[in-house]
Amino acid sequence: MQLINLLEKMKMEHLGCQIDTLCEQASRKDQGYREFLLDALQTEWNGRHLKGVEARQKIARFPWVKTVEQFDFTFQPSIDRKVIRELCGLSFVERCENVILLGPPGVGKTHLAIALGVKAIEAGHTVLFLSLESLVTRLTRARMENRVERQLQQFVYPKLLIIDEMGYLPMNRDEAGLFFRLLTRRYEKASTIITSNKSFVDWGEIFNDQVLATAILDRLLHHCTTFNIKGESYRLKEKRKAGMFGPPPKVEEEKPEQEIES
Ligand code: ADP
Ligand code: MG
Repeated sequence: MQLINLLEKMKMEHLGCQIDTLCEQASRKDQGYREFLLDALQTEWNGRHLKGVEARQKIARFPWVKTVEQFDFTFQPSIDRKVIRELCGLSFVERCENVILLGPPGVGKTHLAIALGVKAIEAGHTVLFLSLESLVTRLTRARMENRVERQLQQFVYPKLLIIDEMGYLPMNRDEAGLFFRLLTRRYEKASTIITSNKSFVDWGEIFNDQVLATAILDRLLHHCTTFNIKGESYRLKEKRKAGMFGPPPKVEEEKPEQEIES
């Protein structure tokens, strides 16, 4: 059998594409057998990894992609970059722990949530990004169509679920009940990142039910890293730079407020 056919049968498509180049390179560099084999397998592995990352990134449905490297920590001193670096190691995903990012609009909550999602995808985890509104809409529709179980399973499956913008729209009690069912299923089985412009004391309003809000917080916070971001909107900073607003307000020096509860 021809080498190229054999590679095709073994589904080594990336090596198949590169084999001529690799062979030329090997004779030019006078490579040993081991070194050549390593290069060849590495080529196949890299190709597969990249394809997996691209596929998982599509499934994740990020509205846009930003990385931790693109985040300017000097602009947002209330975020402890050491804690973010630690989270980038992804042991929180392996331990099925949660991350909550609280703060006013524009301080980078969604950016950091997506950036952690990107890291998780690169490490081979499945990720799904949803706004709270679309999560609730899909659960409610599924219930009306008698397929809520299946929909819940779809939201339980990702190793990391990112729920963005909790707090902009209040939920009715049925919706809050569905959200509670989802969190209960994910509890200690998979990680959830939540971003919210509301502090925990105001979550009763979001769920229209203080008891349910307490039960939701109880599950979320059991194993959780919380960021309480205080600072100026990055969007406004960019507008200010363009001369559209006055100088920034004076912000008091405040200690970072990261808490790790477990
Ligand atoms: P939030 O979700 O808190 O409302 P976003 O994450 O959507 O804020 O941030 C608004 C925009 O500003 C995004 O384009 C984001 O990439 C950018 N941004 C916010 N904070 C920073 C930062 N510290 N460094 C770099 N870009 C930032
Ligand atoms: Mg946001």
